[in-house]
Amino acid sequence: MNDEIFDVVIIGGGPAGLTAGIYTARETLKTILLEKELTGGQPTKVDILENYPGFLDGILGMELMDKMRAQAEKFNVKFGEFEDVRAIIPEGKTFRLVTENNEYVSRAVIISTGGLPRLIGLESEKALFGKGVSYCAVCDGPFYKNADIVVVGGGDAAVQEGIYLTKFAKKVTIIHRRDQLRAQPILQQRAFDNEKIAFKWDSVVTEILGSDHVEGVEIRNVKTGEKSRFAVDGVFVFIGWLPNTSFVKDLLKLDRDGYIITGEHMETSVKGIFAIGDVRSKKYRQIANAIGDGANGALAASDYLAERK
Ligand code: NAP
Repeated sequence: MNDEIFDVVIIGGGPAGLTAGIYTARETLKTILLEKELTGGQPTKVDILENYPGFLDGILGMELMDKMRAQAEKFNVKFGEFEDVRAIIPEGKTFRLVTENNEYVSRAVIISTGGLPRLIGLESEKALFGKGVSYCAVCDGPFYKNADIVVVGGGDAAVQEGIYLTKFAKKVTIIHRRDQLRAQPILQQRAFDNEKIAFKWDSVVTEILGSDHVEGVEIRNVKTGEKSRFAVDGVFVFIGWLPNTSFVKDLLKLDRDGYIITGEHMETSVKGIFAIGDVRSKKYRQIANAIGDGANGALAASDYLAERK
C-alpha cells in the first residue's frame, strides 16, 4: 500500500491519458499515471499519423507518444508502468485503486484505458497467435518480406495497416464481410490504387490453417455460403476494438457495448471518476479527439477537486 494520497490517478497511458496528465500536473495537482504495459497506447502500434494536426508530413506514432510522455514528465507526472488496475473502490472522499501488487489512494480518478483488439473468435486464431496471426502491423510487418498475407476487416485500421503491410509483403488480400469498405474515402482510394492489394468481398474467415505456423485461411462467402481455402503466410486482424472496462463494470454506467457513458465534461456515473478517449461511449475515435477528451477530463477533475476543498 502506497501511503501517498494523490489528487488524480490516471489509468491508461495513451494519448488521452498522457494529455490529462500534462494538464493536471501543470495545475500542480499531484498526479500519477498507471499503465498496464509501457506508455504510448495504440498510436505506438501504427506507423505514420497523417491526420494529426501540426505535422505537415505526418509524424510517427511512436515519436508523437514519446513527445507526449516527455511533456508529462516535464510537469512531474509520476508513472507506474506494468500496473494493471483491477478495481476502483470508493471510500468516502477518496478512491482506492487496487493493482496486482499495489494500492493507490486518490481524490479523483481519470480512466483512459482504451480498448483491446476484437478477435475473430476462432480456436485456430488463438492457437496461431504469434505464429502468423497478428493484431499489430508495425510490430510484425517486417517479418513478412515478400510474403502473401491477408488482412481481415474493412475499417480505417484494416485499410491503413493493409497499405502499410505492402511495404514488406508481395501481396495483401483484404477480406471484408461486406462489399463496401467502412474506411475513410482517402484510404479506400489508396488501397484500390495499390497493385499489391486484392480484395475478397462478402467474406468471413472461418478457419486459420496450419499447425505450428499459419499456412492458409478458409473463408466463407456470406452471400452464397460457398467456402474456399487459399495459402497465406500471415493473417492480420483489424476488426475493431472492445473497451477495456471489465474492472469497472459493476461500478460505472456502461453502454450496450461496454463503453463508459460520460457527460459533456467526461464525468461518469460516479462523482470524482472521469473517463476519456476510446474507452468512453462516443461515435468517433481519433487521436485528435482523445486529446480533447484528455484536456476536458483533466479540467473537469481539477474543478471537481477545487469544489471539494
Ligand atoms: P471499426 O471502424 O469498428 O471497423 C471494424 C471493421 O471490421 C468494419 O469494417 C467491420 O465490418 C469489421 N468487423 C467488425 N466485426 C467483425 C467480425 N466479427 N468479423 C469480420 N469483420 C468484422 O474499427 P477500426 O478500423 O479498428 O477503427 C477503430 C476506430 O479508430 C474508428 O473510429 C476509426 O475511425 C479509428 N481509426 C482511425 C484511423 C485514421 O484516422 N487514420 C486509423 C485507424 C483507426 P462492417 O464495416 O461490416 O461493420
